[in-house]
Amino acid sequence: MDPSDLTNVSTRSWQLSERARKLTSSAIREILKVTERPDVISFAGGLPAPSTFPAERMRAASDRILRDTPGAALQYSATEGYLPLREWIAARHSAHGANGSVQIRPTQVLITTGSQQALDLLGKVLVCPQSPVLVETPTYLGALQSFSLYEPRYVQVPTDESGLIPAALTAELTAGARLLYAQPNFQNPTGRRMAVERRRELAAFAQRAPFPVIEDDPYGALDYRGEPLPTMLSMAPEHIVHLGSFSKVLAPGLRVGYIVAPEELHFKLVQAKQATDLHTPSFTQRIVHEVVKDGFLDTHVPTIRALYRDQCAAMLAALERYMPEGVTWTRPEGGMFVWAQLPPAIDTMKLLEEAIAQNVAFVPGAPFYANEAQHNTLRLSFVTVPPEKIDAGIARLATLVRARI
Ligand code: PMP
Repeated sequence: MDPSDLTNVSTRSWQLSERARKLTSSAIREILKVTERPDVISFAGGLPAPSTFPAERMRAASDRILRDTPGAALQYSATEGYLPLREWIAARHSAHGANGSVQIRPTQVLITTGSQQALDLLGKVLVCPQSPVLVETPTYLGALQSFSLYEPRYVQVPTDESGLIPAALTAELTAGARLLYAQPNFQNPTGRRMAVERRRELAAFAQRAPFPVIEDDPYGALDYRGEPLPTMLSMAPEHIVHLGSFSKVLAPGLRVGYIVAPEELHFKLVQAKQATDLHTPSFTQRIVHEVVKDGFLDTHVPTIRALYRDQCAAMLAALERYMPEGVTWTRPEGGMFVWAQLPPAIDTMKLLEEAIAQNVAFVPGAPFYANEAQHNTLRLSFVTVPPEKIDAGIARLATLVRARI
């Protein structure tokens, strides 16, 4: 029997946990399998463009590390993470403070195995079955997958084109909540950015709230104009739990992300991480530090921004050119995604079947909603598709949409 063939498990008498029985496969992963065919123009991926991975720098960094510190780089290491990297992260967030006086301590920083692990650890230490968990409408599917293992009761917080609406966080809506999960920068899936005023309101809310506000920020650096808005962490450094990642600015295969959290929560997260994987790989943490320590990101990130900005522009131009009236979409100023809304009668899950038959793919919007979904929405990623293919793919998609209006 192939051990990876889980269908065989059902023929056995092994009892799975309640939790495991409730697990479902991510709709995105199932779709990605089909879209790996080379003839498909896929806007479905959420992967960064491989051309942006600084492989040569990493090779040189790996050589130096294996030459100079092989014992430490290949040994078990502290759960909290590699101290020089934690110090670098703390300094970077201190330097990016809204008023320059913000100090993030290295003791607040926990290195995680991607920021995806940070989501799992937060679920593990904060959420009990049926605990209310506040999420944006829509929100990152992977966060829903992580939190769902801990069986929360999701409460959707309304959003508009400026992101989450802090005024909607009434006592009634937030009663008993264990956490609020938000992505202020170029949200996955909508590409929206939360306005500064709203960040201030939400940071002020975090200072009063009896639960943490999570600021998940993997896309903040991918701001096309290079004019990042202040993080909520810089506005309320003792109250915001900030998640960062090297996946979108270096390479996701390294699996290096981090949590910045007040020490009391940090301590619990460390305990949970220890039980999960002891620590994030010593070697990849050192590679990240070796690559970033002398300011490499300051020259590298602008090249990623420029690529994504041009491809985003190509997608927006194609949408403008081909989409019929009644279709609307976001106009991101950074990040990797455009979010489109079709006329209400079109269910994008059904549209996807036709689209794949025409060799074009996207991600239907419904899985990004924690509760009631809008079935006429979809997410488009432009980062791994060259401009001429973006044009051809959107033209095909628009033909299918027209036929359904
Ligand atoms: N948060 C968001 C919003 C994401 O889009 C992603 C990756 N798609 C992650 C977290 C996880 O990223 P990683 O684990 O690679 O840091």
